This record gives sequence, C-alpha cells and structure tokens, in this order.
Amino acid sequence: MITNPLKTVYIFLGPPGSGKGTLSNLCVKNLGWSQLSTGNLCRKHIAEQTEIGKQIDLALKSGKLISDALITEMVKEWLFEIIDRVDSVILDGFPRTLPQAKAFADIIAEKLSTVRAKIVKFSIDDELVIARIGSRYVCQNKNCQTVYSLVENSKLAPKRSMICDNCNGELIRRSDDSLDTICDRLSTYHKHEQALIDYYAQTGFSVLDFNAEKSIDCLFEEFKKINGV
Ligand SMILES: [Zn+2]
Repeated sequence: MITNPLKTVYIFLGPPGSGKGTLSNLCVKNLGWSQLSTGNLCRKHIAEQTEIGKQIDLALKSGKLISDALITEMVKEWLFEIIDRVDSVILDGFPRTLPQAKAFADIIAEKLSTVRAKIVKFSIDDELVIARIGSRYVCQNKNCQTVYSLVENSKLAPKRSMICDNCNGELIRRSDDSLDTICDRLSTYHKHEQALIDYYAQTGFSVLDFNAEKSIDCLFEEFKKINGV
C-alpha cells in the first residue's frame, strides 16, 4: 500500500466569469476532488466571525484590500486540513498576486512535499466575461453559493425560478457582479496575470493554456482528457 501518494494542487488562473468556479464544481461532484474558492471562503469566515473573518471584515469596511498575508494564512489553514483526505485540490482565485504565488511556493516547498502544483490558465475574451456575468446569480446560502446563469437554455439555469436546486436557497445578484465592478476586477486581473505566469515558468510549475470560451460540458471533457483523469 502506498502511504504517501502524490497529490495534485490545480491552480485555476483566469478572470472572473471564465468558468473556473463551474468547472471546479464539476470536478468536485464527479471526481471527488476538493475546491477552494477564496471569495467563498472569505464570505464564510466573515459570516462565522472567525479571527480571520474579523480581520477581513475590518479591511473591507475600511475600504482596504485584504492583505496577501491574511489571504495566504486562510488558504494555508484550509489546505493543511484537507490535503490528507483527497487526491486533488483546486484553488480558484489563489494565488492572485505575485506575493501570494511566492508564499504558495514556499508552503509547498516547506510543508507539502507530497504535492505537485499544476497551473491551468483560462483564456477568454473580456466581452464574453461581461456578458456571462451580466446573467449570473448565486445561491445566498453561505454554505452553498452555487452559481446559476439566467441565459435562456443555459445548462446552468435553476430548475425553479430564482431558487437553488441544491438547498432551496434564494438566488441573488452578487454586489461585486455589477458592470463597474466587473470592469475593475478584469483590469486588476490582467494587471497581475503576466507576472504570475512568468513567475510560475521560472519556478518550474507547469502552465496549461486552456481555451475557456467553449460550453461548460466541453470544458469539463477537455480538462479531464488533458489531465488524464
Ligand atoms: Zn444553495
């Protein structure tokens, strides 16, 4: 019996609305993986008023960015807790900046010798991102946060109008999904993207360029094929 199998941490790098969250959910449901959405985890910490949650809340209320150190601490805590229990983990929305990427590489090097990291870069046109997010709704239950699309005939449409299929929670628009906010988030993303990719290349992490403009079913099939899962 192998006591210490190699685990894979997939880092999903892509703009908001590129399908990272939806693809993550499919991997969790169908492959038994675990996923971390830093956005969801922040919201959960805030709702549960943990020490980390209080600090995040304070930063947001005073209009500051959540510090790289705080985000890294939150991810590290989650990763250490989960990594022994699953084969593969997806990080969605982390590392988002160069300091976060460096901190992540340090965590892997120091503490997680059984882990290899694979970067998946989601490539998609900004216009398509804006259209997708314009029709996006999420379950308001903090422990669920399933994402839906109200685009006609979408596979991500809820079965009942404005009600979550999984938990019957009410579907709402996220405040950070407004057009102004999404344009800001896109420009922030693009500002960091190249620096992150350059850093991963230098560090020897493999970076896979993934065309994210296709439908979600195609994305999932292609993702499995490319990664041999
Ligand atoms: Zn729900």
